[in-house]
Amino acid sequence: MISTSIKQAVLSSCASLIGLPNLIRKTGENLVTVFYHTVSDEYLPHIHPIYTPKKIAEFEQDLDFLMRHFQAIDIETVKDYVLNGKKLEKPSFHLTFDDGLREVYHIILPILERKNIPATVFVNPAFIDNRKIFHRHIQAVKPPYLTWNELKTMQQRGIYVGAHSIDHPNYAEITEEEQIRQTLQSCREIEANLGTPCRYFAFPFSEAGVKDSFFQAIASDIDLTFGITGITHANNGHHLGRIDMEKYGKNASQCIHRAYMTCFLKQIKRKLY
Ligand SMILES: [Zn+2]
Repeated sequence: MISTSIKQAVLSSCASLIGLPNLIRKTGENLVTVFYHTVSDEYLPHIHPIYTPKKIAEFEQDLDFLMRHFQAIDIETVKDYVLNGKKLEKPSFHLTFDDGLREVYHIILPILERKNIPATVFVNPAFIDNRKIFHRHIQAVKPPYLTWNELKTMQQRGIYVGAHSIDHPNYAEITEEEQIRQTLQSCREIEANLGTPCRYFAFPFSEAGVKDSFFQAIASDIDLTFGITGITHANNGHHLGRIDMEKYGKNASQCIHRAYMTCFLKQIKRKLY
């Protein structure tokens, strides 16, 4: 059996040979959505055991790569493209951050403003203001989350605040009724605290195990949902996969090439069978 790392290396090499512009053209996928959790030069005891965040210089290099190959678009433009058929001038990316970690305000926001890149941060209302801590972040040595005041400031400076469930359960392990409650209530709490609509949602952990009936139940409240399945779309365009920029310890070029190559191979497979 071929190991995952060899598979990844083969995928990346093939993708580099074909070239990103060719992959974008061949797949017809003009939009990528990418996600991070945080960026830090410091060791974060609540984060590093789970995944490896990018250092500031690495993150800036990632953004520079994305800006060379794509234009940065905000989430409303993503919606207009996906749901309303609005054309994109060129290949585009949307940048997102999950879990509402404090570095998004203190480290990431100034970088995004300098580079003029819009983004969405998906937050868990139970953790905002550090009232409660996600069980995976228990080793934090300082309050790990954003505050409502910081989120308000970020909104005024071009960041959209979306929902990520109330307190980050694994949707594959809870009932559909609870999935719906976690989703809709997290949006309502964001709206109540920020005074602005919340119509975008990113699944905590992943979208695995979520049924069509869930999407039907939230359809009138949520415009787009986001998962972790790379360049994919489902639920008539209302659900988009995202590219994980931290999981594989790779730079943006490797993550994006790998995602396009996976998408390209899936399309070929679909044509063959
Ligand atoms: Zn999360």
